[in-house]
Amino acid sequence: MASNRNLLMLPGDGIGPEVMNEVRKIIAWMGKKRAVGFDITEDLVGGAALDKHDTPITDDTMKIALEADAVLFGSVGGPKWDTADFTKKPERGLLRLRKEMDLFANLRPAKVFDALVDASSLKPEIVKGLDIMIIRELTSGVYFGEPRGRHVNAKGEVEAFDTQRYTAPEIQRVCAVAFELARKRRNKVTSSEKANVMHTGVLWREEATKLHKEKYSDVKLDHMYADALAMQLLRAPNQFDVIVTDNLFGDILSDEASMLTGSLGLLPSASLGAPDATGRRKALYEPIHGSAPDIAGKGLANPIAQTLSYAMMLRYSFDLGKEADLVETAVENVLKAGYRTGDLLVGKTDGTKKVGTQEMGDAIVKELDRLV
Ligand code: NAD
Repeated sequence: MASNRNLLMLPGDGIGPEVMNEVRKIIAWMGKKRAVGFDITEDLVGGAALDKHDTPITDDTMKIALEADAVLFGSVGGPKWDTADFTKKPERGLLRLRKEMDLFANLRPAKVFDALVDASSLKPEIVKGLDIMIIRELTSGVYFGEPRGRHVNAKGEVEAFDTQRYTAPEIQRVCAVAFELARKRRNKVTSSEKANVMHTGVLWREEATKLHKEKYSDVKLDHMYADALAMQLLRAPNQFDVIVTDNLFGDILSDEASMLTGSLGLLPSASLGAPDATGRRKALYEPIHGSAPDIAGKGLANPIAQTLSYAMMLRYSFDLGKEADLVETAVENVLKAGYRTGDLLVGKTDGTKKVGTQEMGDAIVKELDRLV
């Protein structure tokens, strides 16, 4: 269906193409039942691109990504390419996309579905109803700061070093994303750093506070040291709505939060760039899981993380909140009805039906049909 929505689909490797196939069914459903169409380009990334083009992403694909309204990404990597030279690793394709699209805000929702409350490693009463959003700064901080490297120091010892750097505008732009998002949720932001021991932490807190006062005073803002936040996420995670933090702390805290929900197979993510003059942001949506080579090609992968990444795309790139709600509700209802891929068969399993990738995708589409 012709539209003014340009979508680049990059299924990648391993289970990526399998779970993307299930999203295609939902895209077809949206076109037929909700008149929501996309102009879709599909291309290779990761190991698949290495095999064909000897590079994890070609310049041509990069150009399409930079011009697209959104990129829907599967997963990359696998044992076949593990021994490849560093510049020829499948993951370099994803890193190049993130860098050249300048995707500085990484959104990682952690939501516990009622039907899966027993799958969490925490007690059901602690995680029931959990719905938080972690925003991690993705393009700066200690993973990029210079100087970095290793040398032999004056004492003759081998020494390695990395540098944490943040500028005020880098902090402000990611905090702005957090405040904007909180306004559409429960209106609360927790900004996290280590202002007690780090200069970047002090600047982070100052800039978050300044921006809040100038533009977002209607949103509730708290500050919490990252170590305290790590504890609170396990003790009382429901106190949070939106959490915003730097690249390093965000890396760790978002993984911790994701485990509150039970399975990697359920978790989507979005990475957003800065808005242009028309308000359009470059954006990439992907499940947080990898290419799962241990189950690839067996029809066992859970397509829900990829499906929910597509729902995030509808919401954040195309302002199709109602359609995103429909997809999320269909997923929730299918889980309530007991459908489980293998990764979800933990905790109480009475009344559940074990299904494969395609059956799960079909069940979601069937539920969409029932909902409208
Ligand atoms: P992984 O996420 O691929 O798998 C970890 C475990 O979770 C495996 O047991 C896997 O079977 C299971 N799992 C993951 N997704 C699942 C799903 N949708 N349904 C059911 N089970 C699922 O992580 P890994 O094993 O550490 O890495 C495998 C490969 O993926 C490596 O090459 C790694 O570099 C790559 N990787 C890619 C990305 C990405 O593309 N963004 C992210 C992480 C890892």
